Amino acid sequence: LRCCAALRRANFDGSIALVGEEPHRPYDRPPLSKQVLAGDWDLERVELAPGADWDELKLDFHPSVTAVELAASTRTVSFHDGSSMSAGTVVIATGARPRTLPGVDLQGVHVLRTKDEARDLQKELAGGAKRVVVIGAGFIGAEVAATSLGLGHDVTLIEAGEVPMERGLGPVIGAICGDLHSDEGVKLLLATGVTSILGDRAVTGVELSDGRHLDADIVVVGIGVVPNTEWLRDSTLTIDDGVVTDAYCQAADGIYAIGDVARFPNQAFGGELMRIEHWENASEQGGFVGRRIAGVQDGPFAPIPWFWSDQYSHKIQL
Ligand code: NAP
Repeated sequence: LRCCAALRRANFDGSIALVGEEPHRPYDRPPLSKQVLAGDWDLERVELAPGADWDELKLDFHPSVTAVELAASTRTVSFHDGSSMSAGTVVIATGARPRTLPGVDLQGVHVLRTKDEARDLQKELAGGAKRVVVIGAGFIGAEVAATSLGLGHDVTLIEAGEVPMERGLGPVIGAICGDLHSDEGVKLLLATGVTSILGDRAVTGVELSDGRHLDADIVVVGIGVVPNTEWLRDSTLTIDDGVVTDAYCQAADGIYAIGDVARFPNQAFGGELMRIEHWENASEQGGFVGRRIAGVQDGPFAPIPWFWSDQYSHKIQL
């Protein structure tokens, strides 16, 4: 959506087809683990371009359509229903999906990335006090733990690393963040893995790496994401933990990659290849590529990554 909006702002008047696997128009994910989960916002409020803003973009929108193949030489994308489209320029913004664990299909086990997943988890959390086990103390885990505790649930947060959010925050600030959760009343289990999720049809608990069993009514798995690149297997593009691009986000002639799926050499860090999983980056990178397609020559794309997270009454920014 940010790319489409940047194209129009740069006076691009050609046709723009926007294809998405989900049935929804583009929406904002950050409120899903906070205001939506807490029941403070209804789901309509997360739409990114409501009403007239959407109409002004004049997009040829295809919801519920999954791209299954790209022929890079002709810039032709094939879809799950047998249809295809060719274009002057193709922008890959297929994002990432949650990593899962065996047992994730049991009733009461959730991942949280999409609007539908947020709705399902919100419904369960709204139904009275329960034992909630959150696996992974990254962004999703920390935010879901904070929101669940606020709703009156008994919350255990399990993290394989020594402190929560260590990759994003480092050991010192990660430890302070861990204290924040413990002080609020979350049971924090660090340096602990989950070997399996237990249950027959519905979840009953989890088994920990030290052999202990924890009972649970709801389990939320937040153990990171994998980029959605499988559909590009035969595309000839370079795939290596994401779609690898040049410093201008171009993966091949007339083909760009942006957002969580893109890995680019960041000139602000000596050209280190980076795949950045933050809201701000998706927005900036989409804008950069939209302007570039419309003929604006800025760049290279060299951002200083930035993010925020809301937990309890605290806003963490880095
Ligand atoms: P994440 O931030 O990568 O965190 C996953 C955490 O789970 C890591 O600490 C990881 O440890 C740990 N872990 C991995 N396997 C585990 C296991 N088997 N048992 C226990 N812990 C395990 O990913 P996420 O929290 O799932 O978030 C998903 C995506 O949403 C990310 O891209 C994130 O950036 C984004 N998001 C961002 C925000 C925000 O910016 N405020 C909010 C929500 C979501 P290791 O690091 O050691 O693997």
